[in-house]
Amino acid sequence: MKRVPTVELSDCVLCELCTDLCPEVFVINTNDYVQVTDLDTYPQAEVDDVIKNCPADCITWEEQP
Ligand code: SF4
Repeated sequence: MKRVPTVELSDCVLCELCTDLCPEVFVINTNDYVQVTDLDTYPQAEVDDVIKNCPADCITWEEQP
């Protein structure tokens, strides 16, 4: 089971905190949406820190097979 950070885009306010704190995971794509980079594993502590600080509370871990 793989844990992947997921952004609820309809709640995201594009504050760019996630892309500043953890640019290897979160990027702003050419459509001006936050996108999660496809990685084999994600840095749990850094992502948890971003989840805690996201002002829109719109990032969660999702389990993927
Ligand atoms: S920290 Fe949250 S609200 Fe801010 S850009 Fe990232 S996902 Fe959007």
